[in-house]
Amino acid sequence: EEPDVRAAVPQAGDPSLVLLRRVGTVDPASLDDYRAAGGYAALRRAFQLGPLGVVQEVAEAGLVGRGGAAFPAGRKWAAVAGQPDRPHYLVCNADESEPGTFKDRVLMEGDPYALVEAMTIAAYATGCAKGYLYIRGEYPRATRRLEHAIAAARARGLLGDDLLGQGFAFDIEIRRGAGAYICGEETAIFNSIEGYRGEPRSKPPFPVEKGLFGKPTLVNNVETLVNVLPILLHGGAAYARTGTEASTGTKLFCVSGNVPRPGVYEVPFGVTLRELLTLAGGTSPSLRAVLLGGAAGAFVRPGELDIPLTFEGTRAAGATLGSGVVLVLDDSVDLARILLRIAEFFRDESCGQCVPCRVGTVRQEEALHRLSRAPRSEDVTLLREVGQAMRDASICGLGQTAWNAVESAIDRLGVFPAPSPVPSSPEAS
Ligand code: NAD
Ligand code: SF4
Repeated sequence: EEPDVRAAVPQAGDPSLVLLRRVGTVDPASLDDYRAAGGYAALRRAFQLGPLGVVQEVAEAGLVGRGGAAFPAGRKWAAVAGQPDRPHYLVCNADESEPGTFKDRVLMEGDPYALVEAMTIAAYATGCAKGYLYIRGEYPRATRRLEHAIAAARARGLLGDDLLGQGFAFDIEIRRGAGAYICGEETAIFNSIEGYRGEPRSKPPFPVEKGLFGKPTLVNNVETLVNVLPILLHGGAAYARTGTEASTGTKLFCVSGNVPRPGVYEVPFGVTLRELLTLAGGTSPSLRAVLLGGAAGAFVRPGELDIPLTFEGTRAAGATLGSGVVLVLDDSVDLARILLRIAEFFRDESCGQCVPCRVGTVRQEEALHRLSRAPRSEDVTLLREVGQAMRDASICGLGQTAWNAVESAIDRLGVFPAPSPVPSSPEAS
């Protein structure tokens, strides 16, 4: 059994706690508790709005994907809803595997009915009769709680043939991953569910057109889906007033590393990195860097803590928000060792389907091993060439981003500085 993750609630009753408001306050096993705390009001609202009305609210809210890529959810939902080919499928991506990411786990363990309700609304809006919840195999507690929630919802007519007497049929099946990071890539999920090797497919065609079993498929991350509940309860326009114009709503951040209070924090988009770290207990003068966005992300220097935590703000600062990883590193940490660990991870998790990633991740790790023993500018040059080839020519996001963190450590943090030229001896001149 995994240890608990702290879902840090800055202040009880904090109005910014939109997604975490029930976590730790309701019994995750009790459907009655969930309903008493406002559960299933959003589904009733969805039935009032009708499928098209729900899609419009999601679009108006400006919701973008919280898995890391920030694609507009309203566009995805409208694209699936509009496909004439049937059936349509819904896939909830709960294969939360980005190192340093544990927010979806907190939502699923602490408020499992919220995800069941949100999946039901997404299916209603986009015309899906069947939903798959693809969950990370290393999340046994979340899996158990979701299995229980799905069974309880089914027993009460909240899943099944005729939901709440509305003539809408929908059910959810849980599929567990088996420990492969690549199975969080949406098309690798399809292969895994269909019984094939978990390897990504080339895109396009995008899943909205040809996804699971070749049919139009809506794939959304857990956090993205749960956001649909406040959007329907308050309206898309009201939701969009939180955050910034391009990053609306709140975001769950996974703060870990050298901070006094690591955990999951919910804040409106736009707070600065410094403000978030203050919630987690602050940083020490020995802060060396913050890794934003996970293994595929970028390092931020101590002097850059005032960057706003928005998709556009981090992009402008040459970083990325990704799925919300905030890994704090002080000067007790050996950065070269961290980079090697990241490189080992990508080499290990590459599915091997395409050459740039299969070979590039091995070459990257080898060069980092050499550099950790002795800085050589040839190895930094090699890293850049290999990294660019992976970025340009890999099939999926794993290979395309496998060099991001290493590149930013070299360029922004100055690890592996070029060795000073050996002074020439008087005899040689
Ligand atoms: P992507 O940009 O290729 O796609 C994002 C989403 O938008 C996908 O669902 C895709 O199908 C859809 N999409 C993109 N263009 C479209 C179009 N023209 N029409 C219709 N749909 C379209 O990104 P990705 O490879 O799916 O995801 C990469 C992200 O995943 C990275 O940012 C990384 O941070 C994140 N990630 C997260 C985890 C985690 O555990 N949460 C793990 C690994 C990676
Ligand atoms: Fe597999 Fe890497 Fe190619 Fe993605 S980029 S398909 S993980 S080999």
